[in-house]
Amino acid sequence: MTTIFAAMEQQQSVRVRFAPSPTGGLHLGGVRTVLFNYLFAKKNGGQFILRIEDTDQTRFVEGAEQYIYDCLTWCGLQPDESPLQGGSYGPYRQSERKAIYKTYADKLIQAGKAYYAFDTPEDLEQMRETLKATGSASLQYDHHIRMKMKNSLTLSADETNEHIQKGTPYVIRLRVEPGQILVLDDMVRGRVEMDTTFTDDKVLMKADGMPTYHLAVVVDDYLMKITHAFRGEEWLPSAPVHVLLWQHLFGTDAMPQWAHLPLILKPDGHGKLSKRDGDRLGFPVYAMNWKDPVTGDMTQGFRETGFLPEAFNNMLAMLGWNDGSGQEIFSMEELIQHFSMERVHKAGAKFDYEKAKWFNHQWIQKTNVNEYSKIVAEYFNKEGMTVENNTSFCEILDLVKERCHVLTDFIEHAGYFYQDPATPDIDAIRPKWGADKKQYFETLVTHFQNASNWSAEVLEQDAKHLATEQSVKFGEIQLMLRVMLVGKKAGIGVFQIAEIIGKDATCRRILHTMNQL
Ligand code: GLU
Repeated sequence: MTTIFAAMEQQQSVRVRFAPSPTGGLHLGGVRTVLFNYLFAKKNGGQFILRIEDTDQTRFVEGAEQYIYDCLTWCGLQPDESPLQGGSYGPYRQSERKAIYKTYADKLIQAGKAYYAFDTPEDLEQMRETLKATGSASLQYDHHIRMKMKNSLTLSADETNEHIQKGTPYVIRLRVEPGQILVLDDMVRGRVEMDTTFTDDKVLMKADGMPTYHLAVVVDDYLMKITHAFRGEEWLPSAPVHVLLWQHLFGTDAMPQWAHLPLILKPDGHGKLSKRDGDRLGFPVYAMNWKDPVTGDMTQGFRETGFLPEAFNNMLAMLGWNDGSGQEIFSMEELIQHFSMERVHKAGAKFDYEKAKWFNHQWIQKTNVNEYSKIVAEYFNKEGMTVENNTSFCEILDLVKERCHVLTDFIEHAGYFYQDPATPDIDAIRPKWGADKKQYFETLVTHFQNASNWSAEVLEQDAKHLATEQSVKFGEIQLMLRVMLVGKKAGIGVFQIAEIIGKDATCRRILHTMNQL
């Protein structure tokens, strides 16, 4: 018998879901949840579903849903079913499923597992005041207090109907009986026991007729045949409510296997990484730039900071998982191949921005520059440097990519090929500057202007020869020339720079700097 069941279970195709509430920017923890969903689905030949959990209309944010699609597209983590693509289990936007939830709430009421509650906001405030005054440890609406409140448990059936008929606003609450020990077999945390004594009578349907997350998540996971549900660890305290709803509505055998993923922690390890930490410490926390439609505030994203999606995914995968071999760089194909839930850690993972940049640096080297040159060209054009995304631009990117940790670094490390330095660091030249150097550079410019072979090698030989002739130190000359061409003591081989920027720019930059000395 067991073997038949096991075989049947194996045949049941894996279906996972990412279920964001579209209320703002997508935190990197959210993208990691998407990634684990995606990897698990791909690894098991299953389906990855995107469900938009937008039942809280008070939290509606213009543009937030589109932003989620854009983030998933940028990361290359495309769902198999979603509000945009549709699928056999739609609609995939909860606000379009309102009627479905109502039928399940009604079922719970009929079974005595839920009840109508007519308490006004003032009643609830009064309840909390009373509980506080009596020194109660909990201020929740639960089995201690429900029989003192205005609900269908304390009112007669006629009174309840009357209220409903005349349109008194009501919510539907789950009736949680104390003393039941619920067990969850979590893929990350193992066996988790939860005592319902501490669980409140959660609202399942709100006064506006919309379900809360608690009812909607259970109904939808059931109807959408979700087999494994990954979500952040912050949802663990709500798990008893969900297990009870599964018990009452569908039976816990049908329940997906839960995985509560560890938190992503602040760099110092104290508490969950928040958007504010990013603002404070100067790094992105959201996947992409997010502009708050109300305040107009812009929060910087990894994409716009210059991360490659491959690096972002790789870095996220390693926040809470590794394959045990010490390997750190994984392509998406490798991640799919190596990923396993058994190796997801229980403990929170500290976010380290320097490490994130290390991943990106690795991917900038690994990736053919043609794949990101278009983005870099856009950065250049935004900075007022006119560049074309062509072969010579790619060659330049190749020459300097070793120095770049984020794509925006190319502006610093390749910008001097396209723009004369506005203010060369003449302080770096001055200590060794004098009549001898002035004479040297004047002659050098003449030589350069007359040069018929403009190649790094020939230019270097000429400059070296001239230095010997005029008895000036070639090392000092090289440094000065570098500051003249680049603006500071940085950059690739200085004669290579001269070759690339050409005769006119080289001579112009030398003369321009000399004028300031
Ligand atoms: N809507 C919930 C959120 O935005 C989803 C939690 C879950 O995946 O069950 O966090």
